[in-house]
Amino acid sequence: MSAEIIDGKLVAAYVRSKVKEEAAAFADRYGRAPGLAVIRVGDDPASAVYVRNKMKACDEVGFFSKTLHLPADSAEDEVIAAVEELNSVISIDAFLVQLPLPKGLNEKRILSYVKREKDADAFCSLDAGHLKLGGGNILPCTPAGIMELLSYYGIQVAGRECTVVGRSDIVGRPMAALLLAADATVTIAHSRTTDLPAVTRRADILVSAVGKAGLITADMVKPGAVVIDVGMNRNAEGKLCGDVDFAGVSEVASYITPVPGGVGPMTVAMLMRNTMNAALAASDE
Ligand code: NDP
Repeated sequence: MSAEIIDGKLVAAYVRSKVKEEAAAFADRYGRAPGLAVIRVGDDPASAVYVRNKMKACDEVGFFSKTLHLPADSAEDEVIAAVEELNSVISIDAFLVQLPLPKGLNEKRILSYVKREKDADAFCSLDAGHLKLGGGNILPCTPAGIMELLSYYGIQVAGRECTVVGRSDIVGRPMAALLLAADATVTIAHSRTTDLPAVTRRADILVSAVGKAGLITADMVKPGAVVIDVGMNRNAEGKLCGDVDFAGVSEVASYITPVPGGVGPMTVAMLMRNTMNAALAASDE
């Protein structure tokens, strides 16, 4: 067997094209484009690249975008003041605080000030109980992107056995929550799971969100399973790779996401989707 490759670039382009259509209709109706802002604190080079990519995506779909760039030595209250400002500006429908923040700033406290309706990447909604499972307007981008991939490829989730490896607040837990909301039977594995292969082998849909190259090998995958690789690692040659042994697992799985080109491209596309949804919700008459 050779697995069908799930093409994240293709699905991300599809999501962006739908958002672009909706943004044009929104602008016609309300006389302004949907708006996304990013608060960036300090000069972390990786953050600069991520923010640039988000702004570029905004341009492509026809959003208004804005970056508030604060100096690295900003006081916590200054960052909170920027959050409060964006909470109240009407032209900004959603915004995010680019993480990580410089040392000394309390990320959790700062994020707690983001208005829930404008929380572009749903980070402040990740506290247990706040994530509106499945029915929410704004969902955590990476797990929501994975649900979109499954849907695009017509992969049934309801009633199936799903294993999520990893239990972080940003990926593993919300992923499990969305699968559960879609009526899957869900198992979460983590670093203290005693027999990982036994847990992964029962999955019809296996999501690995760990950050360890080569963790998931062919013998850990049920024949015909769908394998979603969230991991982003560097291999010995310095090349980007996921958690899954792609060559080996492709021989066993029915569908598989590559790294790069699988889950990664979906994250920014879903940020655009969240912003569009926030704009529509805010303008709902
Ligand atoms: P975290 O480090 O926050 O979480 C990793 C999880 O993996 C933890 O729950 C940990 O368990 C678990 N884990 C660690 N070792 C093992 C093991 N040997 N067996 C089973 N579980 C294990 O990472 P994130 O959730 O933030 O990210 C996970 C990966 O996804 C990273 O590679 C990251 O770069 C990537 N990523 C990719 C994105 C994309 O857009 N493609 C977006 C976000 C993340 P425990 O809780 O017990 O410590």
